[in-house]
Amino acid sequence: MGEWPASMLNPPVRVLMGPGPSPVHPRVYRAMVAPVLGYQDPVFHGIMDEVKALLRLVFNTSYEMSFPVSGTGSAGMETAVCNSLEPGDHIVVAINGFFGGRIAEMARRYGAEVTVVEAPWGAIVEPAAIKAALESHPRTKAIALVHGETSTGVAQPMEEIARLAREHNALLILDTVTSLSGCPVDVEAWGVDFCYSGTQKCLNAPPGLSPFTVSPRGVEAIAGRKQPTTNWYLDLSLIRNYWESGRVYHHTPPISMIYALREALAVVAEEGLDARFKRHARNARALYAAVEAMGLELFADREHRLPSLTTVRVPEGVEDGRVRGALLSEHAIEIGGGQGPLAGKIWRIGLMGYGSNAEHLLGLLSALGGLLRREGFKADTGAALAAAAEVLSQPD
Ligand SMILES: *Cc1c(COP(=O)(O)O)cnc(C)c1O
Repeated sequence: MGEWPASMLNPPVRVLMGPGPSPVHPRVYRAMVAPVLGYQDPVFHGIMDEVKALLRLVFNTSYEMSFPVSGTGSAGMETAVCNSLEPGDHIVVAINGFFGGRIAEMARRYGAEVTVVEAPWGAIVEPAAIKAALESHPRTKAIALVHGETSTGVAQPMEEIARLAREHNALLILDTVTSLSGCPVDVEAWGVDFCYSGTQKCLNAPPGLSPFTVSPRGVEAIAGRKQPTTNWYLDLSLIRNYWESGRVYHHTPPISMIYALREALAVVAEEGLDARFKRHARNARALYAAVEAMGLELFADREHRLPSLTTVRVPEGVEDGRVRGALLSEHAIEIGGGQGPLAGKIWRIGLMGYGSNAEHLLGLLSALGGLLRREGFKADTGAALAAAAEVLSQPD
C-alpha cells in the first residue's frame, strides 16, 4: 500500500504577477468558505440575482441575459462560439495572438466556415482588414476578436470594428477575459452580442467561472437557430431557464464559485469602475517607467498597451527560464513567459485587479533587478524603483 498524505494540504503563498490566475482577494477567500446552499434555496436565488445585477454593472450593459457560465474563460469562449454559430455559418476571426487562434479552432470544430484576419503578434488588428474580409464574405454571421490579448499585452481598439459589425449585420463576439474591470469595456455601447470574461484575471477570484452577457440581438440569434448546438452543457437556451425566470435545473451550479464571483464583483462595485481603471493605468505607467529605467524594453507599442498585462522583452544573453524560476523559488513571485512565437522572448507581467498595487510592483522590480545582475545584465534597480515611485506619486 502506498503512503497516504497525513497532513493538511499546504501550498505556499505566492505573489501572482503572471497572465493569470491573479491574486485572490481576501474577501473572496472568505466568501468561498461560506456554507454551501442548495441550488433551489431562495437565499441562493437572491445571491444569483445579485451576481446578475453586478455583472451588468461591470460589463456596462443593461442586457437581460447576463450570468456566469460554469467553467474557466475558455468555457465562455466556447459558449460564445457554439451558441452563435451553426454548421456552415461564416465567421471572421481576428488573430493577433494566442487566444484569437483558439477562437478560430473552436469555430472550425463546430463546423463553421472560418476566415481568419491575421496581424503580427504584438500589433492590433486593423479595421480595414476586417472590412475587406466582410466585403469578400457578405454572408458573414459573426466577427470574433480578443479585446485584451494576454499573449502580447495588446489592447484592441473597438469602436471601428464594432461599427463594421453593425453595418454588415454580423454578430460581434468579444473576449474580455483579461480586460474586464482592468480597463473600460463598454459592451452595450460597442454593440457586442456575445461577451465573455473569466474570474481569474482582473476580478481576483479563482479560475472556474466565465462571466457572460448576450445582447437582445444575440438572444434572437439563439432563438432562431435551425438546430440546437451540439454542446449540451454550454447551451445557453437551456442554462437561461435556470438563471432567468424558471429556475429549472440544468446542472448543479458551482455554488462556492458563485459566492466567490459575487464577492469579487462587489469589491469592484465598491471601488467604482473609474477609480479602478485609473489605478490600473497608474500602476501600469509606473511599471513602464521602471522597466525602461532598468534598461529593459517593452514589447507592445505604448499606444495599445493593456494596463492589466505588460510585456517586456527578455534581454540578450539572459535566460528566461532561469530568471522566472529564481523569481518563484527565491522570491515567491510568479510572472509569465511568452507563448508561441514569443516563447523565451518576452515576460508577461500581470497587474490585475487587487494585484495592481505598488507593493507587488516594487517587490517585483527589486527582485528582478537583482536576478538580472546575476545573469550579467547591468540592471539599474535603484533607477527603476525611483522611476516607479515618481509615477506613483503623481496625481492622475
Ligand atoms: C486567460 C484567457 C483565456 C482563457 O481563460 P482560461 O481561464 O485559461 O480558460 C481566454 N482569453 C484570454 C484573452 C485570456 O487571457
